[in-house]
Amino acid sequence: MSNENSSIHEFDFNLICEYFSNLGRQAPGSPETTIQALNFIRHLTTESRIADIGCGTGSPTMVLADHVPGHITGIDLFPKFIDIFNSNAQKLNIQDRVKGIVGSMENLPFQDEELDLIWSEGAIYNIGFKRGLNEWHKFLKPGGYISVSEASWFTEERPSEIDEFWKDAYPEIDTISNKIAQMQKAGYVPIAVFALPENCWIENFYNPQITVQKNFLINHEGNNTAEQLIVNQRHEAQLYYKYKDFYGYVFYIGKKF
Ligand code: SAH
Repeated sequence: MSNENSSIHEFDFNLICEYFSNLGRQAPGSPETTIQALNFIRHLTTESRIADIGCGTGSPTMVLADHVPGHITGIDLFPKFIDIFNSNAQKLNIQDRVKGIVGSMENLPFQDEELDLIWSEGAIYNIGFKRGLNEWHKFLKPGGYISVSEASWFTEERPSEIDEFWKDAYPEIDTISNKIAQMQKAGYVPIAVFALPENCWIENFYNPQITVQKNFLINHEGNNTAEQLIVNQRHEAQLYYKYKDFYGYVFYIGKKF
């Protein structure tokens, strides 16, 4: 990549980061579904070590912290998200056991068999579901759990417009049954699978973006990249309303075999 390209890239990252740091959460989800997934996970103690990978500003992490004992490390690529994460932990007075660090899910700073639980909501797609499940496996203790949410097809077939959109955005999107098979092949016993309800997308993810988009466009008037970012976000939301029967986020909970 040339220097010119990488600086354009960085500029895009800054805008994306600014846009999403204004939102309470950076992916579809809800406190209820985080707790629902957590209910399948047993034997966590004050000694447990938990990682939330691609934690963003920590909306799901703070729910986790409220419901499990033990230490939680949140990891995200964007320093600004981690700053907000750590100030959220401080506000809740849980900074002693909940810490955000800047890092990449492709190069995690854990020892083999260190973790009791790996959590990741709306983020594993950045490394790819199969690669993430396979590479993160070694960090879990035997019998440790993984709980991730991942974009999945609800049906075997779907209209070409949405098929093409997702195959371009995330070619690894697949049916729920195929994802379960991938989890099993990566060395986990599939424990539970459930689809996130629509409110996780509409009320918790797309609705809060409406005001953020208006302010973002005012603050970046005349900036083509910023305008294009909002066009893309609005397009994605419209496709969700049109095709939500065909896809969504699905929680996959597995136990290291
Ligand atoms: N889990 C949060 C954020 C999900 S959005 C929530 O549910 O709200 C996906 C997150 O993955 C973003 O915060 C993004 O910065 C982060 N991310 C993207 N690539 C990453 C990588 N290689 N390593 C770590 N985090 C990454």
